Amino acid sequence: MKAAVFKGAGHPLCIATMSDPVPGASEIIVKVGLCGICGTDLSMTALGEFNYPVGSSLGHEFSGEVIALGREVDQLKIGDMVVAMPVAGCGRCQHCRSGDLFWCAQMRPMMGGFGEYAVAAAGSCLLLPAGLSATDGAIIEPLAVGLHSVHQAGMRQGARVMILGSGPIALATAFWARRLGAAKVTLMSRSDRHSSIAAHMGVTDFMTFTSADEEMRLLAEDGLPEIVFECVGASAMLARAIALVAPRGTVVLSGLCFCLDSFVPAAAVFKEVRVQAALGYRRSDFIASLDVLSAGAIQPRAMVTNVIALDDLPDKFEAMRTQKHECKVLVDPSRAAHLPH
Ligand SMILES: [Zn+2]
Ligand SMILES: [Zn+2]
Repeated sequence: MKAAVFKGAGHPLCIATMSDPVPGASEIIVKVGLCGICGTDLSMTALGEFNYPVGSSLGHEFSGEVIALGREVDQLKIGDMVVAMPVAGCGRCQHCRSGDLFWCAQMRPMMGGFGEYAVAAAGSCLLLPAGLSATDGAIIEPLAVGLHSVHQAGMRQGARVMILGSGPIALATAFWARRLGAAKVTLMSRSDRHSSIAAHMGVTDFMTFTSADEEMRLLAEDGLPEIVFECVGASAMLARAIALVAPRGTVVLSGLCFCLDSFVPAAAVFKEVRVQAALGYRRSDFIASLDVLSAGAIQPRAMVTNVIALDDLPDKFEAMRTQKHECKVLVDPSRAAHLPH
């Protein structure tokens, strides 16, 4: 099969022929319909930030058709359309039983969406209902991340929330915050390029970063946000979030910042700020994200700004490290290359 292979930090992905995957006893093979490019993919392959294994294929936001079953799989059949949670757990421990697969001691990431076929754990797959497309399937994972962040915040009905960033995780967080009862959702970003998508996703107020003093002045008119979701993942953002949140408010760290960062602890103490991190999602978040699309909330489709061929992925992937105009880009392994190679 054809796949985009990771060649090491600092090197672009490479389109190569790999052996077709074979399912383990409790696994299935998915013919990938679409797979999203995630900010995490870019982080994991950047210089010095992560030890992602060379020679493997990334891509964890995928959906597609079941084409092969392991011998113990009885809950799925050939031809089913599925979306895969890209992790496998032991299936027996307390974390697996409660749907917290990321915390299983035997947790294995199941990537490979940037190829024609991907292995998935049958127990981590959800059936995609007839009314949902492969696009819907591919955006369920980032939606689930946003929902988990909102759950971690412990948000009350009618809350004023603020979201830093305007990428898919920021937008997914805005979508759920509004849907779950936030009265005011202010999104603050470097540029206003995603402001119309943000409005679509439920954002009520859009701001661009200015100075901390000016931001405080603007926010103070209606009251400071009780919850600030940090979805940028860059240095100095935690300090910014602590500065902006209301006294006794909550800062949720959703963005992945791999560099050393600093903040003045007293700034948090003086306001009794609660800092809460959010990682991934629970199985229930994944199911709720599928269900919301299934129930007709199609606004999140607006996050998709491009669909590209697998052959075009390596160039696009590198470009996305610096160019921020795209929101969610999906890879279609069955599509012919658009660019000359
Ligand atoms: Zn992702
Ligand atoms: Zn487990």
